[in-house]
Amino acid sequence: MHGIVQGVGFRPFIYRLAARFSLRGSISNTTTGVRIRVAGGQDHLDAFLRAVRQEAPPLAVITSLVVRPCTEPVSETGFVILASEPGERPTTLISPDITVCDDCLAEIMDPQNRRFAYPFTNCTNCGPRFTIISSLPYDRPNTSMAVFPMCADCYREYEDPLDRRFHAQPNACPICGPHLELHDADGPLESKDPVRTAARALREGKILALKGLGGFHLCVDGRNSRAVARLRRRKHRYAKPLAVMVLDAATARRYGRFCRHGEELLKSRARPIVLVPGKNGSGLAGEVAPGINEVGIMLPYTPLHYLLLAHADTPEVLVMTSGNRSGEPIRTDNREAVEHLGHIADLFLLHNRDILTRVDDSVARSVCGRVQMIRRSRGYAPMPVLLPQPVPELLACGAELKNTFCLARDKHAFVSQHIGELIGPENLVFYEESIGHFQELLEIEPALVACDLHPDYLSTVFARTWASARDLPLVRIQHHHAHAAAVMAEHNLSEVLAVVFDGAGLGSDGTIWGGEFLRVGGSGFFRLGHLAPFALPGGDAAAREPWRVALSLLEHLPGQKDCNEILQGLAPAPGSLDLLRRMLAGNINCPLTTSCGRLFDGVSALLGLRGRAEYEGQAAMELEALAWSALKDPGSLPGRVDTEYPVELEENNGLLEVNIFAMLGRLCSDFSRGRARENLALAFHCWLAAATAALINRLARATGLSTVVLAGGCMQNRLLLSMLRNTLEQDGYEVYTGEKIPVNDGGIALGQAYIGGMTSNVSGNSHAGT
Ligand code: ZN
Ligand code: ZN
Ligand code: FE
Repeated sequence: MHGIVQGVGFRPFIYRLAARFSLRGSISNTTTGVRIRVAGGQDHLDAFLRAVRQEAPPLAVITSLVVRPCTEPVSETGFVILASEPGERPTTLISPDITVCDDCLAEIMDPQNRRFAYPFTNCTNCGPRFTIISSLPYDRPNTSMAVFPMCADCYREYEDPLDRRFHAQPNACPICGPHLELHDADGPLESKDPVRTAARALREGKILALKGLGGFHLCVDGRNSRAVARLRRRKHRYAKPLAVMVLDAATARRYGRFCRHGEELLKSRARPIVLVPGKNGSGLAGEVAPGINEVGIMLPYTPLHYLLLAHADTPEVLVMTSGNRSGEPIRTDNREAVEHLGHIADLFLLHNRDILTRVDDSVARSVCGRVQMIRRSRGYAPMPVLLPQPVPELLACGAELKNTFCLARDKHAFVSQHIGELIGPENLVFYEESIGHFQELLEIEPALVACDLHPDYLSTVFARTWASARDLPLVRIQHHHAHAAAVMAEHNLSEVLAVVFDGAGLGSDGTIWGGEFLRVGGSGFFRLGHLAPFALPGGDAAAREPWRVALSLLEHLPGQKDCNEILQGLAPAPGSLDLLRRMLAGNINCPLTTSCGRLFDGVSALLGLRGRAEYEGQAAMELEALAWSALKDPGSLPGRVDTEYPVELEENNGLLEVNIFAMLGRLCSDFSRGRARENLALAFHCWLAAATAALINRLARATGLSTVVLAGGCMQNRLLLSMLRNTLEQDGYEVYTGEKIPVNDGGIALGQAYIGGMTSNVSGNSHAGT
């Protein structure tokens, strides 16, 4: 049997089952899973097999179960658990870190229990895994629990096959395990009850740095505007939405509107941050998610979270944001954290168990009853994605923003935890370390390296060096091709029409793509259509300065006086507009782009919403929030979206092009006539969905394909995605988008792995492109 079947209470489970069905035999761990030998009546054997599948422990994941007649004699006397069998290469899977289970939670809340209020309580069904493992096999000496020898009581549990803690490697109690420490920036503080001291500090509006599972959180009272504003100032993070944590689902419903599916996601074992529409008048500080109509909520996932949130002195809702300065990786080392966070946090609630792997919180939402993973990290990584077909051992290096990498072998694609922005030396170190650690844990020796087509991404630079040092072939994969392939890998699709709406990625023709219609199949793709190109004055700088995009678009729209005036207000300095106009006229540092993300930015600026963005996508997110506010009943989107603006498809160099300027002209005129901005924001979304559907209809007729993939960062726009899905499904298409794997650049590595693997399988067929 293969899958996650070690360290998750599998052997005691089988032991109990064997007793239930009066079977003789044995179970042992092998390097690839577990082997069970059983003998008994046929009825009992059948019932046993059914129960193995149906009642497996919560953390077990059975990927394959092979049943064979036994050739060797089995035990004559009952059922035994044998020592592990030696073998060659470990292919057993490593479990992600798992939220504290109900049994452990009951123990820490029970004053009579020896683990009462003990924050490091765990068992085979829950607790830290991935973040504490240094190498395989997954035994205590290979974890950061190695320095805490078990006491006699813990060891008894560990040795007892019928105990919930049988072979629970991180098993601990207040006598023998890690403990809490309270610090301020100057050093350790005396406290009899560190949780209570921390709770009171939070109540007073102080900023708490909390050591968690995969890193540090900075916490403040989520209802205290001044405290949240202070955290933002100290963190130099002024606008990006912050997540909050509440004790339970009932409290979560006071702050966000959850559908049934969204609430299931919130309560799921992985405990992601769930993005939901916020509730007016909830009392949540406006500084938590300014300008955005969604709030990110999560439930506690470690015993320490529960002890803190359940404390009478703790505020009801805590802002919990990762303890890193913008752009830097999470701190995992106590000393390092106090040094780096000393100027942000007033108080540190730490512990002496080391974090060996940094893992951020995962972020997800529910769209149309499906999960949309925004950031796949804690609780999910390093669980593999099952590929449609086997690939050779390979490393895919991912993109630049929201980076993840992927190691693959056979049908398993191990997508890493969220690495983040691969900009700057510190993040590069984290990236390299993480690749090394993953490689060691998974014992993958790549025969192939895949990376983005963009030569300047640090991931590409790394890939080049890494591949050439090992003399391995390097496959460069076009960014939007990889976006589409990630969705295809996830849903096992072989040939599709893909709509990839994205920020920016280097195209095969050297221009910047991002509003693409591709035909993807095998290891290749063809570009069949795109949004009309426009110039991006200043190149990459335009991503954070939507006013630049607006100016470029306005050059195509003569006579839009009012929008021009708006632009005057958004530009940073009086002379900057003229400078940019000269750049455009002289075609100086004005690369062409078809980027849908930049189009969103441009429209946002044309409507006077935002000229400068603190983070990529901010202007687009605010435009979406504005459009939602124009919908009277957000629950009832039309089945098929219609538009009042012109949908014009033009043929250009054999490609179909969506004319964006006719629509923009109408949008600006309506704006001049005083039409409400929220209606214009909604009209723009409707137009984009309708124009996309029109182009897909043309391509479907030409190609005979009826499966459509929606990918790229813009598909995180819930309104656009819902409209597109509804419209295309009404038109009879099968529509797929990223669910378990992000549609943003966090999914690029998976797409690269899938294409790279196929490229090498189909000899002599290099990936096509136009
Ligand atoms: Zn437990
Ligand atoms: Zn103990
Ligand atoms: Fe992208």
